[in-house]
Amino acid sequence: MSYMQISGIRKTFGTFEALRGIDIDIAKREFVVLLGPSGCGKSTLLRMIAGLEDIDAGDLVIDGERMNDVKASKRGISMVFQSYALYPHKTVRQNMEFGLKVARQPKEERQKRIADAAEILQITPLLDRTPRELSGGQRQRVAIGRAIVREPKVFLFDEPLSNLDASLRLQMRVELARLHKELQATMVYVTHDQVEAMTLADKIVVMRDGVIEQTGAPLDIYRNPVNAFVAGFIGSPSMNLLKARVTAAEGRRVTVDACGIDTEVEVDAPPAVGTEVTLGLRPEHLEPVLEPAAGDTMLDVLACERLGGVSFALTRMPDGQDLTLQLDGNLPTTAGDRLSCRARPGEAHLFNAETGARY
Ligand code: ATP
Repeated sequence: MSYMQISGIRKTFGTFEALRGIDIDIAKREFVVLLGPSGCGKSTLLRMIAGLEDIDAGDLVIDGERMNDVKASKRGISMVFQSYALYPHKTVRQNMEFGLKVARQPKEERQKRIADAAEILQITPLLDRTPRELSGGQRQRVAIGRAIVREPKVFLFDEPLSNLDASLRLQMRVELARLHKELQATMVYVTHDQVEAMTLADKIVVMRDGVIEQTGAPLDIYRNPVNAFVAGFIGSPSMNLLKARVTAAEGRRVTVDACGIDTEVEVDAPPAVGTEVTLGLRPEHLEPVLEPAAGDTMLDVLACERLGGVSFALTRMPDGQDLTLQLDGNLPTTAGDRLSCRARPGEAHLFNAETGARY
């Protein structure tokens, strides 16, 4: 039995359907990430769980209780916002204490909870400062501390790290993972950051245009995207999605050609020879051929991003399609070069060219 059930949830703003039937089962202590492009409805769903937005249709059940008509403050949920939403004139301690006072917690209990949360978040020395006297990362910790002291059944996070710079984001990501373990709490986390989703989630829910495209463990989604949208959305840099044609088929194994790059793919429902398909090849599953043979497809290198350990070459195929390859960082490849490549066997994905569904 799941701890939190979201079933058939819908939301309409005027005539615009922001959520069109959302179903998610969340286990106790699970870390669920809602991931999707801007405007897909992630924040709206989170706000409905929090009680900040009415639920037009469907049910929200937490720990066996239907929450649709329960007031936000009575749901046992704490939400951490992107903007932190701290009271600027209150100290860190007062910010953390405020919700507990409203909930009429006795003073001793309030102090104990604040001390415990401050300890966990390593902000004890900051308790008497105001938000103005804190760095972005410290403010974020205070916002999380304010959620922790309320000892909620469920934590909600709305892009909590998006205002932080890259190195702080990494640090906070690690801290959030530790916090999740330490608090053993159920968490629902909205982001459009791939890395946050892949590293923090027990389960990722990929959304688009108010519907769920796929739900699953991060690596399952990465390895077995159900359609071309999910395939292109999960992974950075994105999977190459190429126009291709089936040139041979034997049982479940088909050979596919994309402008001279051949690969074999095993699929559940093989399309017939001659079918136009979308071939999915991740940049890391392409290998450069530095000394190509006559007749090999040549790629023009448009740009090469050198990250150190690896480089990403953005290339153009003879038919005008773009193809990104991951290269060893030691290769001197640069814009203007030409190279050929091979798809690593067994790593390709095949999608219906019209519907995008996986074969
Ligand atoms: P982002 O990543 O940009 O925050 P999101 O996936 O969180 O996007 P939502 O904020 O949930 O998206 O919005 C979903 C859709 O609903 C958007 O098209 C948005 O314009 C619309 N929307 C959200 N709130 C309202 C509102 N109060 N009135 C009208 N439309 C709204």
